[in-house]
Amino acid sequence: MPSSKHIVVANWKMNKLPSQAKPLVAEILMSYLKKNSDLIVCPPYTHLANISANKIISGFYLGAQNMSEFESGAHTGEISADMLLDLGCTHVIIGHSERRMMSEKENIIIPQKISLALQKGLKVIYCCGENLESRESKQEETFVSNQLKNDLYHLENLDKIIIAYEPIWAIGTGKTATSDQAEAMHAFIRQTLSEKYSNSDQVKILYGGSVKASNASEFAKKENINGVLVGGASLIPVDFIEIIEAFNS
Ligand code: PEP
Repeated sequence: MPSSKHIVVANWKMNKLPSQAKPLVAEILMSYLKKNSDLIVCPPYTHLANISANKIISGFYLGAQNMSEFESGAHTGEISADMLLDLGCTHVIIGHSERRMMSEKENIIIPQKISLALQKGLKVIYCCGENLESRESKQEETFVSNQLKNDLYHLENLDKIIIAYEPIWAIGTGKTATSDQAEAMHAFIRQTLSEKYSNSDQVKILYGGSVKASNASEFAKKENINGVLVGGASLIPVDFIEIIEAFNS
């Protein structure tokens, strides 16, 4: 099993204004400071400079929600790994299902993005998870193992990878996987990775999908659930703090 320290990731998606980032983070940090879990906050790109410049990033890690597969150059509208590092980011989310659904190309370039992020020194929060059709036809394990093989198996080790299992049918829908369903999939992911990686037992596997203050403690009890990736509820400090508390043991 990985070290007992849990990880809680806030994915703000395309919410809040840059000027609202500082008070939101400050409110969360007031309660977080003494906690025994790692907190990673992933605001929109436009908020990163504000959070960094205000020197409020001590106490938690700053992450981005995506990055370009290219190092630099003529890629209008894209953001590079170096830009993220320059702004104080330590982590980047890659493979979020909302991005995978935007274009077919995203699925193809994920391995490239992961390699570049790691080469530059960013830690990767890699997202995987099945769609509703696969779950209903009991093909969820095949779906997820194919994602792992396509996206990660070019890597020699998983040292700087955090995995977030996020069933697509549970993201932003209010419908959560049960803690038993999540635990079963996390155990399956660990088992699958062990066929290729000797230290797969050290990889942190987070659950994501409509995690709320009311259900977080159920996930926190499970052996293979090493934390959570939280979207909607991370924007409500009182709820998010309760989620952090649930993962504080
Ligand atoms: C997410 O952003 O990955 C997510 C799980 O969102 P939500 O918690 O809103 O379902």
